[in-house]
Amino acid sequence: MKGNLIIISSPSGGGKGTLIREVLASVPEIEYSVSYTTRERRFGEEDGKHYNFISVPEFRDKIDENEFLEYAHVHGNFYGTSLIETERKLNDGQDVILEIDVQGALQVMKKVPGAAISIFILPPSFDVLKARLTSRNTESPEDLALRLRNASGEIEQYPKFDFVVVNDEIFSAARKLASIIISERQREVRQIDRIKGIIGSFEQSKQMNTGE
Ligand code: 5GP
Repeated sequence: MKGNLIIISSPSGGGKGTLIREVLASVPEIEYSVSYTTRERRFGEEDGKHYNFISVPEFRDKIDENEFLEYAHVHGNFYGTSLIETERKLNDGQDVILEIDVQGALQVMKKVPGAAISIFILPPSFDVLKARLTSRNTESPEDLALRLRNASGEIEQYPKFDFVVVNDEIFSAARKLASIIISERQREVRQIDRIKGIIGSFEQSKQMNTGE
């Protein structure tokens, strides 16, 4: 059975990283897509785990070779999702979480219309977003200002997403996120092979009972 492609977007500082960690720990059969980026590695980030860190020429080569499901230039750096890795995980039956910006999210929705589940994580207010971004202390003052400026434009894109989760309290928001992912697995089209097997077993028993 093929897994579901789950797009999760929010402005920088929206808290999606923490939320996604919670979901990965509580929902089985789900994998995180490790993106490629040309951004500098932050303290504590591991190559291959948080991102695959590559140079701009390496990134451009991957664009030329059509290796990305989507890619975008975000806050001054390139970020992209590996097409082959995503397909491999989905074909293994795993749900795949893409933690990507709104430009990338719109590209994926266009490429696989109706097939991806898109979720927008909305911070409870601008002030909370600013406080979260400032307190994590990972950006330079210029980069912080750029991310806050970009946030308003990003937030306007929320109507294009299937779901909106307000991240006011982390555990409550993580539960909402997990419940969306689990509910989506129950759609008829997403479990058609299993359903057919079950229906087939009823038909067999009917034939046995009527002696056909
Ligand atoms: P950060 O530099 O804070 O890790 O990420 C900046 C933004 O880039 C975030 O909104 C993050 O979700 C987004 N991002 C991370 N990976 C990808 C990706 O593969 N593609 C796109 N389009 N955006 C990404």
